[in-house]
Amino acid sequence: MKLPFAIAEITCLMLFATASAPQLSATETKTPAASIDRLYRVDCGHSLANDESVWTPGENKGKSIEFSSTCYLIQHGGEYIMWDTGVPESAIGDPNGWSTLPKLIVYHLDKTISSQLAEIGLKPADIDYVVVSHTHGDHIGNVGLFPDATVVMQQAEYEWINSPPPSDPNLNTLVQLARKLLGHPRRLALVTGDVDLFRDGSVRLLSTPGHTPGSQSLMVHLAKTGYVILSGDVAHLEDNFERDIVPALNVDKPESISSMDRIKEIMREFNAQLFINHDKHQADGLKLLPDYYD
Ligand SMILES: [Zn+2]
Repeated sequence: MKLPFAIAEITCLMLFATASAPQLSATETKTPAASIDRLYRVDCGHSLANDESVWTPGENKGKSIEFSSTCYLIQHGGEYIMWDTGVPESAIGDPNGWSTLPKLIVYHLDKTISSQLAEIGLKPADIDYVVVSHTHGDHIGNVGLFPDATVVMQQAEYEWINSPPPSDPNLNTLVQLARKLLGHPRRLALVTGDVDLFRDGSVRLLSTPGHTPGSQSLMVHLAKTGYVILSGDVAHLEDNFERDIVPALNVDKPESISSMDRIKEIMREFNAQLFINHDKHQADGLKLLPDYYD
């Protein structure tokens, strides 16, 4: 496969290569994990889709549904990590909104990430890592806001958006938009599989392919709250997750079901909660920056 530039040039920052970070399995011997200091939920937009059945095939045809778009800010000592970057800041206050697939879904943004970081005395330049769950536009809309951060994503995801585009017109549109929004980060760390980001068990990337080839979720450990898994788009709704329902706009259905099952196993093993990015009903009940989980 021909990439726009050699992988070797951009993987010089493969800081977290998985050689010493084997896949996390539910039967892993548990060693006491360190904790992150704080987990903040950042409001990264909301959307209205005109046909819920795209996310629940065979059910809810023609019914509209509202989704949340959520990013998270993780504080690990003096280091800060953004998990996903949401709807582009240029959409702020635009009554027409912004869209990845205009015939299906329109996003609105009420607050920028920058203004929310400012509420707790931070600016985009203070962010050390931007970890991307996958490359759909509503997750990478503001990667360009963090030019000094190291962007961390799965190598499979990077290769996918730089391969010949998918034949499905909607997936094709999403891939073209992904290339544009991701651009060429100055610092890019491409990883494979699960990664223990700080090698202390406090922040773990969990490989959950299916929605896209390099989709990932993220699990953090907090001293008081315990383990929390941030879904990425391994599932869009709690009900989908519970019933193994896979949206129509998806790359690999069996892989998506395996990834949901894998998250369920890890939740049982670590007694973890799952925060589902787009489940508005659930997200509305979670703490929002400046409040935080610790
Ligand atoms: Zn997605």
